[in-house]
Amino acid sequence: MIGANFYPGPSRVVSKLPEYYSDACNEGIVSINHRSDGFAKLMHSLKTQLYSKLEIPTDHEVIFASSATECWEIIAQSLIIGSSHHIYNGSFGEKWYSYTKKIIPKSTSTSFGLNEGINAQEIHAKDAAILCITQNETSNGTHVPMQELRALRAAFPDKLLAVDATSSMAGVVLDFSLADVWYASVQKCFGMPAGLAIMVLSPRAVEIAKAIGDDKYYNSLLFVLDNYRAAQAPYTPNVVSLYLMMRILKDRLSIGEVDRMIQQRHAEWQAVISKLKGLNNLVQHAQYQSPTVIALEGLPETIQTLKSEALAYGIVLGNGYGDWKHNTLRIANFPAIEQREINYCQDFLLKKYGR
Ligand SMILES: *Cc1c(COP(=O)(O)O)cnc(C)c1O
Repeated sequence: MIGANFYPGPSRVVSKLPEYYSDACNEGIVSINHRSDGFAKLMHSLKTQLYSKLEIPTDHEVIFASSATECWEIIAQSLIIGSSHHIYNGSFGEKWYSYTKKIIPKSTSTSFGLNEGINAQEIHAKDAAILCITQNETSNGTHVPMQELRALRAAFPDKLLAVDATSSMAGVVLDFSLADVWYASVQKCFGMPAGLAIMVLSPRAVEIAKAIGDDKYYNSLLFVLDNYRAAQAPYTPNVVSLYLMMRILKDRLSIGEVDRMIQQRHAEWQAVISKLKGLNNLVQHAQYQSPTVIALEGLPETIQTLKSEALAYGIVLGNGYGDWKHNTLRIANFPAIEQREINYCQDFLLKKYGR
């Protein structure tokens, strides 16, 4: 039995993780001081890998946090003048809105349907200084195509754009120039254990943070940024995770090539899904289907049975999430998953549920 984990977060980690961990121990990384030259060197290598492998524009800055949830809080504390407007169609976008509302009660929202996309003309956000968008909605397997981000940018040139890319960053090509804040935690497309997040900031985001001047918290943006600019960290960080990220990126193909593989695999998944009975894509419109997270809809009994049958074959399928908890299952299409595991799972599905 091969065994394969398709949970969309925390998800299958890269196969070389034990080797990287062992190197981290042997190289003394695990005990390194975050104000040391060794840490500065690690930061330098990590940033070099991030900018080159993920194609982050050189005028954007990179900082680290511990989770995407922490990024929600950092944005609310340090980047919102007045209020924010949240545009979402699923649980993670909604959670971001509700977390922000606790800090900024005036924040507003617009929700949209799974097969609709975002129509910039229908967004009424006059009073908001920042628009918040979940680019890849892990709860329902939708994504916001880059052209819709571009349209939002064009419709609201004066507002900051903040993007949750937790389940897409490092899996697909993102045009970082289209938004001011991008963030992701690493237990999805990076193929890493949880406990680290990355935030990418445009020059305008940094300017706004300066204008706001928040310095009240241990994770106030300017304080964090000053530290990472100096190749240090604001507090003793998870250095091993930073090291793992550096090694993983170093061994990865360029994001263009990773993206091609993900799209190709997504097409293979769709070919298989079209042959299954009792299971359909939750998202019908191909242009809104996330390349990295597939949500399949069926009767709750079918979903339950399928998940336990799969488990008997060593295959872990993702539970439904939020509103779609009982009538969907989710399949991660993240880069760390190996082709033979995908073949194994697809053979299982076709054998048991093929028409
Ligand atoms: C997983 C996920 C989160 C939450 O990530 P944490 O690291 O647990 O905070 C937020 N947004 C999206 C889109 C996610 O997929």
